[in-house]
Amino acid sequence: MKLIFLGPPGAGKGTYSQALVEQLGIVQISTGDILRSAIKEGGALGKKAKEYMDKGMLVPDDLVINLLKDRIKHPDCGKGFILDGFPRTIPQAEALEKSGLKIDKVINFNVKDDLIVYRLSGRRVCEVCKTAWNINKGCVPIPKDPKKCDKDGSPLIQREDDKPEAIKKRLEVYREQTAPLIDFYKKRNLLADINASNDLPKIMQEIRKAIGIKSF
Ligand code: AMP
Repeated sequence: MKLIFLGPPGAGKGTYSQALVEQLGIVQISTGDILRSAIKEGGALGKKAKEYMDKGMLVPDDLVINLLKDRIKHPDCGKGFILDGFPRTIPQAEALEKSGLKIDKVINFNVKDDLIVYRLSGRRVCEVCKTAWNINKGCVPIPKDPKKCDKDGSPLIQREDDKPEAIKKRLEVYREQTAPLIDFYKKRNLLADINASNDLPKIMQEIRKAIGIKSF
């Protein structure tokens, strides 16, 4: 099964992907995670990506398209994957189409702006195990200590692009460059709309229904 998760930042795409890949035995491909790993490695690609990411801007298409094309060649993608955060522009979607890959479904998550800001500003990620927490109430658990991961006690960090100025920019970028993909995939009869303001069990139920699989 090959799925695309589309939606504004803070819609919870990563959380839903993680819950679903376990059930389906497929992999989650987050271009954001790949780029953050490249930044950690400190090479030229990471340095270039960081300039854009910290400001809440999109990394140039050619760079991300090449990363994605390399990633989907890996054998672990054989059973299928969820593209979490790709494509984010029309040229990226066109490049994916040209690659000949057949996408089964595009899930579009709808959330209101004020809820996005509330979720993103509260997001904290464990520096070591990468577990996502949120100090604001929402889809993921609130950590007992806002500075420490409940799982392994490691420090929780706030992403640079989850700070107020970058959140504002990311929402603008989403509206201008990513939202046009909704029509792009609607025209191809691939789109399923989900209300991502609901609670997690309800959202997961809707996703499973949209892709035609049974709940646990
Ligand atoms: P995410 O973790 O999906 O929220 O992505 C974090 C940041 O990584 C985005 O704000 C962009 O700067 C960059 N990024 C991730 N995926 C893409 C993409 N498909 N195209 C361009 N930039 C991306």
